[in-house]
Amino acid sequence: MKCVICKTGETKPGKATVTLNRNGSTVVFKDVPAEICTTCGEDYTDEEVTERLLELSRETAETGVEVAVHHYVA
Ligand SMILES: [Zn+2]
Repeated sequence: MKCVICKTGETKPGKATVTLNRNGSTVVFKDVPAEICTTCGEDYTDEEVTERLLELSRETAETGVEVAVHHYVA
């Protein structure tokens, strides 16, 4: 698909690192399946993946951990 950020790049399937901040917790997810723009590097995760990341970051925030790194497992 066409990248909506730079409007010139095309996205290709790959692995992204996504960082989410929630209630004072910073959660980093590595190896997240995503469409990545070949021009600007913007990553696009689908709805299912995004839901899972939000759920995991919520769980992490509840434990009171300030910074956490997860390897995404589908
Ligand atoms: Zn782009």
